[in-house]
Amino acid sequence: ETIGANLERTVARFGDREALVDVAAGRRWTYAELDADVDRLARGLLARGVERGDRVGIWAPNCAEWVITQYATAKIGAILVNVNPAYRTHELRYVVEQSGLRLLISAISFKTSDYRAMVTEIGFEDVVYIGTSEFTDLFREGPVPVADLAFDDAINIQYTSGTTGFPKGATLSHHNILNNGYFVGELINYTEHDRICLPVPLYHCFGMVMGNLAATSHGACIVLPAPGFDPAATLAAVASERCTSLYGVPTMFIAELGLPDFSGHDLSTLRTGIMAGSPCPVEVMKRVVAEMNMSEVAICYGMTETSPVSTMTRPDDTLARRTETVGRVMPHLESKVVDPDSGRPVPYGEPGELCTRGYSVMLGYWNQPEATAEAIDAARWMHTGDLATMDDEGYVNIVGRIKDLVIRGGENVYPREVEEFLYTHPDIADVQVIGVPDAKYGEELMAWVVLRPEAPPLTAEAVREFCAGKLTHYKVPRYVHVVEGFPMTVTGKVRKVEMREQAVGILG
Ligand code: ATP
Ligand code: MG
Repeated sequence: ETIGANLERTVARFGDREALVDVAAGRRWTYAELDADVDRLARGLLARGVERGDRVGIWAPNCAEWVITQYATAKIGAILVNVNPAYRTHELRYVVEQSGLRLLISAISFKTSDYRAMVTEIGFEDVVYIGTSEFTDLFREGPVPVADLAFDDAINIQYTSGTTGFPKGATLSHHNILNNGYFVGELINYTEHDRICLPVPLYHCFGMVMGNLAATSHGACIVLPAPGFDPAATLAAVASERCTSLYGVPTMFIAELGLPDFSGHDLSTLRTGIMAGSPCPVEVMKRVVAEMNMSEVAICYGMTETSPVSTMTRPDDTLARRTETVGRVMPHLESKVVDPDSGRPVPYGEPGELCTRGYSVMLGYWNQPEATAEAIDAARWMHTGDLATMDDEGYVNIVGRIKDLVIRGGENVYPREVEEFLYTHPDIADVQVIGVPDAKYGEELMAWVVLRPEAPPLTAEAVREFCAGKLTHYKVPRYVHVVEGFPMTVTGKVRKVEMREQAVGILG
């Protein structure tokens, strides 16, 4: 099935129900109204000469028109290219040129001199700004010609977060992302009564697949609290829109829980939600369950290249498994953990590289056949670059990225384990551990910590004392660096590459 056909089935069943709310803009759509706007834009794009397979970029913070554009391009078989709102000139140029963009849809807030200068500098002319008459002038009445679309057509290019290097354009089909969104919604038991609050960026699969497609394939409502992440606006939207589900990367939940007036927000309508995108600290998960009323909250694990979700927890898993693991493989997908050198599966409980196979594996990286061949092997297994363990019941634990592994004096240290331990320190709100070069041991551990509000100053000695006897000696951080926050991607991932670069400067 294609995304357009799936939307139409939902419209036929739930036309009168609410589909989309843009809280910041104060606007709302029923499914019938959403579909009508999607069709108007789809016709407009056709009238402008956009054809099946053409690349249409969207470069905008979260807004309702983002969602409308996603479905309009899908209906006519154009390939939506998600452009990160935080990109600056050189990344924008790369994406525009690498994907061969035909048209760029942007936001009125990007019509300011700063952003305009970037577009001018790269010499791209075909830009339409949402929120201006340029965008609404595109809308056309009349029937949308039924395009001859195939379920496995490329429909979307999503550049990866760029956490570990330069972003790569994962090319995804209707089949890839629609099924993934559908099964996420299925496992979280979405119905037409659910209202999903999305503070996560739509430009990333967390928003557009696990959010939008999960919602529209089950008749649930998408609630967009604000253009960018704002913890107070998010919790206010949960209350005013009576949301049943809330998404976030771990740092978003940490920010919400840390609001000075946190307990003043009415979260009584929440039932579920998703934490995903980077390691989900057990302490934070426990607080989300206990203090945010999200008793059924799930953890998802995945990557852009696998549409994205490949494992997830289920509401009927034990609380321990729902907070300490990333769950089991999704329906109709396969997972295995292999020795990265031999490619052979490792015994249960031992760390190795996690691999995924099935319908969700991308078509490939856009115009990068070598990179694709490196990531997907001849048997169609996607090699994730993540270290994981799997127990004999199939529950997966993410140990960390292969690239973040620290080797100190010949011992492998998984930063995640040290981070989880440090999260139990009463004064630490957030923590990241990296390896820094060391003449004696090859690498030494350095912890960057964000303190809880009003916590007293924290020294490296105090941290080492806290660890003494509880962590093996070589896992105890040698350096402690107190910060206000970490270098992040807009998708909320900590850029350890950048932390390592900065650390070299800090340590002299
Ligand atoms: P790039 O590939 O450009 O360096 P990226 O890998 O961060 O960026 P994404 O595709 O957005 O880009 O992120 C996928 C990665 O996020 C996974 O490979 C994994 O390392 C991490 N991740 C996602 N979900 C989880 C989770 N629940 N627990 C731990 N790590 C996770
Ligand atoms: Mg990646």
